[in-house]
Amino acid sequence: MANAHTVVETARKAFNSGKTKPAKFRLEQLGNLLKLIDENEDAIADALYKDLHKAKAEALGMEIGMARNECVHAMNNLEDWMKPEKVKKNMLIAMDDAYIKREPFGVCLVLGAWNYPIQLTLLPLIGAMAAGNCVVTKPSELSSHTADLLARLYPKYLDNDCYPVYCGAVKETQTLLEERFDYIFYTGGGSVAKHIMAAAAKYLTPVTLELGGKSPCYVDTNTDLTVAANRIAWGKFLNAGQTCIAPDYIICQKEIQDELVKKIGNALNNFFGENPQKSDSYGRIINDRHFQRVSDLMKHGKIVIGGQSDPTERYISPTVVTDVQTTDPVMEQEVFGPVLPIMNVSGVQEAIQFINRREKPLAMYVFSHDKKVIREVIDNTSSGGFCGNDTLLHAGIDTLPFGGVGESGMGGYHGKFSFDTFSHKRSVLIKNQGMEKVNNIRYPPYSEKKSSWMMWLMKKSPKKSGLSQYMPIIILSIIVAFIFKSRLRGIH
Ligand code: NAD
Repeated sequence: MANAHTVVETARKAFNSGKTKPAKFRLEQLGNLLKLIDENEDAIADALYKDLHKAKAEALGMEIGMARNECVHAMNNLEDWMKPEKVKKNMLIAMDDAYIKREPFGVCLVLGAWNYPIQLTLLPLIGAMAAGNCVVTKPSELSSHTADLLARLYPKYLDNDCYPVYCGAVKETQTLLEERFDYIFYTGGGSVAKHIMAAAAKYLTPVTLELGGKSPCYVDTNTDLTVAANRIAWGKFLNAGQTCIAPDYIICQKEIQDELVKKIGNALNNFFGENPQKSDSYGRIINDRHFQRVSDLMKHGKIVIGGQSDPTERYISPTVVTDVQTTDPVMEQEVFGPVLPIMNVSGVQEAIQFINRREKPLAMYVFSHDKKVIREVIDNTSSGGFCGNDTLLHAGIDTLPFGGVGESGMGGYHGKFSFDTFSHKRSVLIKNQGMEKVNNIRYPPYSEKKSSWMMWLMKKSPKKSGLSQYMPIIILSIIVAFIFKSRLRGIH
């Protein structure tokens, strides 16, 4: 592997040559990436199984399928996305051209994450490629089988100079971050994000930070508890809880807690059988450090489901804990593992207060038959994304932006939002050389007459409400009707 400086310089040279700018090149390379995904489906699923014991169905649905669709979506829409965006004009520039041109930043760095190492590496890559950038990809070393596979596959399918892979751990990432990038896209935890942002600050490089946090799930008394239990259990224990938008904890009224726990137990039985360790559908913890961290989170409160673990396999069973305190580690840090604490509140108002006393989360969930309850939570809280009566699914919709707010991150992506994230929106005005008399009003020497013309041409008026907003149309209609009527009179 070439050193970090050479990798970035080669990419910069390629970018400066202009080869990534034409739509044809971008489409060709996206097509090659699509081939990479399609022709290596089994190898990718195998690497994901080795890294995370990820079931093939999860590999297909949450990683390969998502990356594939994102690629196809970008290819299908690229020419539209690249078109200059005409903007509204005021009277001063009525005869001129004004538009937004989306142009690539240059050389981008994509720092992938280990929990969905294909999706969280390739989706940003696709956006950056579509936008015409060169991209250095740094897959997470924690999901090493997937990282090795990507390092082998990229050069076979993609332009080597424009889209290199740079592998390594902390030291290598730090070395890479000493280089100058034009955009940095990072997915991972908040504490590393601060190092990334500090490194970016050196060159004032813009960043997108896709982070995590404690995503709450409020279960209302007025809800179908079987549906809630199934959907929460699915979203929480998928990938052994290592999903950035997994419901981190449940808040509900005490009166429904036992029934909810029972139904989550039923759901888990249906999903993974009596012993989830034997299930092919259940994942493992990525490494010993995270295994120890998640195991420690089970030391407080009352375990009502699960609680088993096996360090030799880094297995932790799906676990539900009640009677926890807000000061317990499981309620103070992001769980990011298969442990689901339940807190009690008196109702939706207290749930909202509970949520608002904490950092803004990446996702938020509410289960209720009552749309007013769902709206109440949406209107009085903030989070990266929101999903009512289900979990995770909002992140799979490419017409919705995916990203955090506050401590859960900054910036968003997926679909067109990715293309926009990796594009500088350049404002362009091309003036007509005529009408110099009109333009004269802005040139010195200034005069009251010039100023009043200028103000008349550029002054905006506050939007009128009620009937008065239609006044110009009403007056115009009356005039037209009057003229029409007088003409008719003239004919007779
Ligand atoms: P992490 O955030 O600690 O990231 C580990 C990566 O950072 C490794 O690749 C490591 O080499 C690198 N790194 C560590 N120290 C560094 C330093 N000083 N300078 C530069 N690089 C350094 O990984 P984690 O904590 O295991 O990840 C879990 C977190 O990521 C959770 O908070 C989760 O919510 C979040 N996450 C968010 C998303 C999202 O899409 N928003 C997706 C996945 C994970």
